[in-house]
Amino acid sequence: MCLRFDQLPGNGTSMNIAKVGIIGAGQMGSGIAQVCAAAGYQVLLNDTSSERIQAGIDTIAKNFDRRIKSGKSSEADKAAALAKISAAADLAAFGVCDLVIEAASEKEAVKKQIFEALAPHVKPDCIIGTNTSSLSITRLAASSGRPEKFMGIHFMNPVPVMELVELIRGIATNEVVFKAVNEFVGTLGKVTAVSEDFPAFIVNRILLPMINESIYTLYEGVAGVEAIDKAMKLGAHHPMGPLELADFIGLDTCLSIMQVLHEGLSDSKYRPCPLLVKYVEAGWLGRKVKRGFYDYSGEKPVPTR
Ligand code: NAD
Repeated sequence: MCLRFDQLPGNGTSMNIAKVGIIGAGQMGSGIAQVCAAAGYQVLLNDTSSERIQAGIDTIAKNFDRRIKSGKSSEADKAAALAKISAAADLAAFGVCDLVIEAASEKEAVKKQIFEALAPHVKPDCIIGTNTSSLSITRLAASSGRPEKFMGIHFMNPVPVMELVELIRGIATNEVVFKAVNEFVGTLGKVTAVSEDFPAFIVNRILLPMINESIYTLYEGVAGVEAIDKAMKLGAHHPMGPLELADFIGLDTCLSIMQVLHEGLSDSKYRPCPLLVKYVEAGWLGRKVKRGFYDYSGEKPVPTR
């Protein structure tokens, strides 16, 4: 897949998006790698160690196996996609990329450090996107050395299943870059919604306070884990209960988003529930560590409260 787009004003070169670099091979980075490779892009995948990159690639293989079982993909699709993904232990390998999407942990300091480390390696035309769930795009862009070629590209979890991608311009994002990314996301079979650069954008501005409130509901003893999830599934027709969803998102990510909302909007209604803080302090981060509001070590999830 080779996507052409107009010349960027000022740099006099024409650009293609053919090679995509992804930083962070966790649940989001591996999902983004999967959909990019499935759409025919060459993908370079980076994380803090070779083991973590390999774990991301193994997750993609397992996702394909599930899709093959349900008739959504073939063995040939899996082989073709995996052949397009290479491990990149060093950011220097990202010099060939036309677009780099950062999907590392939701910590501003970590992301800024990544953009600073990436800057000397990427070619002048390369666009940089961040999959941040909540952080200021303008602030992150400032550490990239190319704020005009930087924007928010916010995929939803699980990436191969969810249709939406939120697009967020920073104050300096060039319109040609925005259009190119919008078109690129379309080639992945996704639909875009545009948000202004406000804490947590659209989906998480609405979703996370609901999840936080469900944790307060548990914390104040209104009901137990199972009753809260059952109530919202059967009483509001949510496909997953809010606590189950929190475990799925990752409780560290949920807490980071609530902190960004609380600090960014200076409103006490976004105060993270102390019980959420306690779970994160305990390292009970949800599904990814097999323990959160449920214990996932057995056949069936068991509530932890
Ligand atoms: P995760 O914990 O599953 O994965 C994060 C990965 O980043 C880990 O593998 C970690 O080793 C890696 N990482 C940390 N520091 C790094 C560095 N310096 N260089 C390279 N890799 C590094 O988290 P996730 O759920 O995949 O979230 C990643 C990003 O996507 C976050 O910004 C999060 O807010 C956002 N996001 C998450 C969800 C969700 O539901 N979990 C949804 C949309 C967006």
